[in-house]
Amino acid sequence: MRNNTLDRLSEQGYRLTPQRMMILDVIETSVNHISAEEIYSQVVAKYPRVNISTVYRTLELLKRLGLVTETDLGGGELRYHPAGRGRHHHLICQKCGNVTDLDESVLAMLRDTLLREYGFAADLKHLAIFGLCEKCRKEINKDRITK
Ligand SMILES: [Zn+2]
Ligand SMILES: [Zn+2]
Repeated sequence: MRNNTLDRLSEQGYRLTPQRMMILDVIETSVNHISAEEIYSQVVAKYPRVNISTVYRTLELLKRLGLVTETDLGGGELRYHPAGRGRHHHLICQKCGNVTDLDESVLAMLRDTLLREYGFAADLKHLAIFGLCEKCRKEINKDRITK
């Protein structure tokens, strides 16, 4: 993965500055989806001269090269993921913030339907679906019954 990323950057004529390397590294080693602010705070600890706009510019570049995916997972911040970690999707509870991974086969059906009915080829790399998790739904229903 790491080497692919480096090849991809140099192939397209981008210099791999220490800052870019560091930003990539932070995204790739992060277990969870990471926000630009979180990337920044990790990078600035090592490179105090880096500013947040460098992080945003680098994220734009990595997105354009298809190395990083950007997803709105709620909470008012976009979050980043290495694209090489494969396709995956999430169900996000708007009440408790719980994140459940979604099986790709569910979306394969959606993709097929969109193609068949709308002639639309959906690019479902990393999708977030918002709603209520089972636990929160049950709690809400319970409240309705007791009130
Ligand atoms: Zn994800
Ligand atoms: Zn919930």
